[in-house]
Amino acid sequence: MKIATLSIGDELLYGEVVDTNAGRIAERLYGAGLTVQRHLTVGDGEPDIMEALELLAEKSDAVIVTGGLGPTVDDITARAAAKATGRRLVLNDEALVHVRGICEKLGGNLHPLNEKQALMPTKSTLIPNPVGTACGFHLTHQGRYLFFLPGVPGEMLRMLGDTVIPFLLERCRQRKVVRTRVLKVFGPSEAEVDFLLKELASVHVGITVAFNVIFPEIHVKLRAEGDGEGLVVDLLERAMAEAREKLKGVVFAEDTATMDSVVAGLFREKGLTLALAESCTGGLVAKRITDQPGSSAYFLEGVVTYADAAKSRYLEVPPQLLAEKGAVSGEVAMAMAKGMRRASGSDIALAVTGIAGPDGGTPEKPVGTVFIALATRAGCHAKRYAFIGDREEIRSITALTAMDWLRR
Ligand code: ATP
Ligand code: MG
Repeated sequence: MKIATLSIGDELLYGEVVDTNAGRIAERLYGAGLTVQRHLTVGDGEPDIMEALELLAEKSDAVIVTGGLGPTVDDITARAAAKATGRRLVLNDEALVHVRGICEKLGGNLHPLNEKQALMPTKSTLIPNPVGTACGFHLTHQGRYLFFLPGVPGEMLRMLGDTVIPFLLERCRQRKVVRTRVLKVFGPSEAEVDFLLKELASVHVGITVAFNVIFPEIHVKLRAEGDGEGLVVDLLERAMAEAREKLKGVVFAEDTATMDSVVAGLFREKGLTLALAESCTGGLVAKRITDQPGSSAYFLEGVVTYADAAKSRYLEVPPQLLAEKGAVSGEVAMAMAKGMRRASGSDIALAVTGIAGPDGGTPEKPVGTVFIALATRAGCHAKRYAFIGDREEIRSITALTAMDWLRR
């Protein structure tokens, strides 16, 4: 089945909003075994929308349109769709009930502008929107399926998953079964991961390997395609087992799990408590820890000791050590971790100190020099890192590295 997507909105052409809808739709369809063949973006002009619809419908079996279903004057997708398919715009009763219901829920009456959201081309079928006011609709025009969804990503995705994808799948009879799984890697470069997995796809016929770099993580996606659920699942699991083996030690999570959720799971499982002393990350590690629901079960406290004096006052880092070794040193990182463990009474204390830049580097300790230390009952150790990147990248890779320490 040939599928096209169309994103509508001046804001997309002005660069004010990044067109994430196109990517998310492609990703979801791909995961379901359907691929997008074409994509277009047009502004909020009626002739442009009509032309794009006609062009895409001519070349495709299905077109998925997002944007311009809202109540404002620039939302003209329904009207353009009606004109392009030679239909009238009529009030859809079901949509009207829905829009009215949402308005009343929000404590108001139906505004005439919202009523506009219930206007659809004749002979369209409503696509329910369980999470917003704008209803979608679909229609069949000259044998092509046209779907119209709101631009708001959360609403669009929900309707895509609930209605559009099941509709399309039902209509592609000879579709292959497709399953995907993801291994999330941190540490090696993309080239190194690629090298480790280079034979995977040729050994396991029916498997494709794709890389997605979400800095500083690398997500390896294994996709299995074939006839029959059982065979495909089996193929995918065998390839996964081999990939896990090849990437031993650097895979931190699979599928929807994240570094942070994995660390949270480990702390809960082991019943250990944690405290943090951060300098250059300014609380980024604490944020990652506390972003996880239930973190109060193991996270006791964290301090951001930026100035040397703060490191001495809160963590009892000796001023002499700071003067001799510098705040960015393994010795100070360890003193911070030990001081934090003492002060908090935690099982584990982690400390981070480094130079995120752009200023502050020296030839011996250039920007990107970071020390991480961990103190436990068994002792304390530190490690030096040399990260590269701008301030934000160095801070984010430092925070992820710290989380990776906690995972081990
Ligand atoms: P609404 O009921 O919110 O008006 P709508 O269908 O009219 O829905 P738009 O007005 O086009 O949708 O877009 C609403 C918001 O959704 C935009 O402000 C934008 O932030 C987001 N949005 C729209 N299109 C896209 C897109 N292609 N990718 C990512 N975000 C988008
Ligand atoms: Mg709008």
